[in-house]
Amino acid sequence: MFLPNKTAEAGRKPPRRPPTNRPAPGAFIYFPFVAGGVKASRDPGPASFIDRGTGAMGQQVKHVLGWMDVYKLAGSVWRDLQCNFRSEGAFPCPLVVYPVPRGGIHAAQALMAASVSAKNGLPQVRITNTPELCHVIIDDIVDSGKTMLEHKHKYRNMWFVALVDKINDERYKGAWVEFPWETLVGETGPQDNIRRILEYIGEDPSRPGLLETPDRVVKSYEELFAGYRQSPIEILKTFEDGAAGYDEIILQKNIPFTSFCEHHMLQFEGLAHVAYIPDGRIVGLSKMGRLVDVFAKRLQVQERLTTQIAETMYLHLKAKAAACIIEAEHSCMGCRGVRKKGSRTVTSCLRGAFLERPEARMELMALIRG
Ligand SMILES: [Zn+2]
Repeated sequence: MFLPNKTAEAGRKPPRRPPTNRPAPGAFIYFPFVAGGVKASRDPGPASFIDRGTGAMGQQVKHVLGWMDVYKLAGSVWRDLQCNFRSEGAFPCPLVVYPVPRGGIHAAQALMAASVSAKNGLPQVRITNTPELCHVIIDDIVDSGKTMLEHKHKYRNMWFVALVDKINDERYKGAWVEFPWETLVGETGPQDNIRRILEYIGEDPSRPGLLETPDRVVKSYEELFAGYRQSPIEILKTFEDGAAGYDEIILQKNIPFTSFCEHHMLQFEGLAHVAYIPDGRIVGLSKMGRLVDVFAKRLQVQERLTTQIAETMYLHLKAKAAACIIEAEHSCMGCRGVRKKGSRTVTSCLRGAFLERPEARMELMALIRG
């Protein structure tokens, strides 16, 4: 684990180092790339890390860094930046820093904290979204060096710094480094977000009744949104024979479904009527119900759900006609907002002969009503 040197910690003032081309211990600064210049000698270059990490994996050292470690590392980077910029001439104030997404964002914030001036209590670092406008590019870690090289080739005049340098720093070579922000979201997964939502609505996620809730919610999402992992084309495997020249309407009425509106993630449910006129290809009757489910078990708006069902039938069965009519009740209208409980929304999508021939459409409507 990295510890800044004692003198730097004890003294308020940043250590004055004579300008030198030798890497200072604990300095994780890559100078702007200057071809042929002395500074380029500090650039590790691609060759120095090709054979990196070939050490036995079984002996891999694990550095689990806490927030205090991060702030110490950032303090060290800040002091080194000051020294190196001063050796170049002037120290820009504020120092404009571009964080490499996403780990660089935490590193930049830590550097900002480290830069707070003893004089006026203000940070001397400003974070920018525009790499072209920065003085320094910051990342949390130089791992393979790929990200650093990409940035150095793109922005040749910028400095590149990192909290941890796995290429040049012996302590981190071949080691496993874990930052505190990685454990925040890493292992707990979506359950952690459910806990946050519980807190947001005013609940205490640690009370006994709610302890298992995040797990249950995530589990139920797997079922409610199973449609994302299913293919409508797989479901519509057709029988080429068996139709025996049947070219009248095939209608599956009153298929119940539950879906979730994509605007509020609240339930809407109702009945779907799915019909088609085959042109040599028919599907098993249960397939229409399954097709409705594939699209319903996603975040939806009723209009799109209707169109997706009808169009999939029409295109994949190469049918003469296809239709989907849905009537549904939206809980986002019933239990919140305008509170119109009981009102139903009807949508329809007609393709082929249902659209073109009024008598086919009238026959379909009569069958649905009848
Ligand atoms: Zn809604």
